[in-house]
Amino acid sequence: MTTAHAPSAEPRHQLIILGSGAAGCTAAIYAARAGLSPLMIRGNQPGGQLTITTDVENYPGFADVIQGPWLMEQMEAQAKHCGTEIIADHIVAADLQAKTLTGMGGQVYGFKALIIATGASAKWLGLEGEKTYNGRGVSACATCDGAFYRNRDVAVVGGGNTALEETLYLANIAKSVTLIHRRDAFRGEKVLQTRVLNHPKVKVIYNHTIAEILGDPDPIKGGVTGLRLQSTLDASMQELTTHGLFVAIGHQPNTGIFKGQLDTDETGYIVCPKGTVQVTHGGQPLGGILAAGDVADPLYRQAVTAAGLGCMAALDVNRWLETQAH
Ligand SMILES: Cc1cc2nc3c(=O)[nH]c(=O)nc-3n(C[C@H](O)[C@H](O)[C@H](O)COP(=O)(O)OP(=O)(O)OC[C@H]3O[C@@H](n4cnc5c(N)ncnc54)[C@H](O)[C@@H]3O)c2cc1C
Repeated sequence: MTTAHAPSAEPRHQLIILGSGAAGCTAAIYAARAGLSPLMIRGNQPGGQLTITTDVENYPGFADVIQGPWLMEQMEAQAKHCGTEIIADHIVAADLQAKTLTGMGGQVYGFKALIIATGASAKWLGLEGEKTYNGRGVSACATCDGAFYRNRDVAVVGGGNTALEETLYLANIAKSVTLIHRRDAFRGEKVLQTRVLNHPKVKVIYNHTIAEILGDPDPIKGGVTGLRLQSTLDASMQELTTHGLFVAIGHQPNTGIFKGQLDTDETGYIVCPKGTVQVTHGGQPLGGILAAGDVADPLYRQAVTAAGLGCMAALDVNRWLETQAH
């Protein structure tokens, strides 16, 4: 049957998993082992966010520090070993009613069931130093990288809840935390503001932006040594000595291709009924469509939680497909 939404796509895959991060790979492992013959579409960041970091020491099962890209290689290899078909394409359009996805070259993929595991991307300031020192002093995740700055001086940039939470998290670990905000007041919740402002290890610099990240670019022994700050009031400059910069200006969930077709919050995170991975539209469940990982999780955003949600999605999709078989 053709639809008004998209060209029909044959063969229709039983299950497509969109995304190859921790959520997508875990969903693929469970779905393949359940005999669902999933197709995993890797997207333009194969392996997801963990491929842009170095040391990971909080993923269970490894006493030694492991590398993010290595962990993702292992997850993908396991998904493949279990029977997942994996393809390199990036989806540019989705029609959840017609149950089709369109790839970069116009290829249309039909599905009976879909697990959306497209993740979220940290927002960056756009400074050259963010690339130069990524993983060597610059981070967008205090929970992930804070422990590497024990008893050191760090800075956080931002003014919303994320920045306030990251500051408080780091204040338990670091020697000092300097929170830099471009305005004269924070946007985050009052209770968090009070905790930050009263914390003995936290210093706040209002009305400043970061003009430059200073450091030694040597890939082995280099790293961040400081920041050049610019006043938003009179454009004057000052330097701050720091070993780490945590950019906490928010995340962007990768849900643009589903806009208007499923329930999201105001930022674009998929909103599922509490405790589930079920995707809804207008509060009504979309049969066989589930969401897993950071794309539906503005709160925890960890590899292990993404993997857990991927597992839930695969188990639920298996149950749903069974109901369709009879
Ligand atoms: C610098 C950094 C360090 C981190 N360190 C740690 C750590 O130490 N420990 C920890 O637990 N967590 C860490 N995290 C967080 C962790 O990486 C994420 O929580 C985790 O990767 C989320 O997995 P995910 O599968 O939900 O999404 P992602 O990893 O974001 O993967 C999303 C996937 O979707 C694909 N995709 C997106 N859009 C499309 C599309 N249109 N079509 C097809 N595919 C698409 C992408 O290609 C990608 O494969 C870190 C994150 C960052 C950025």
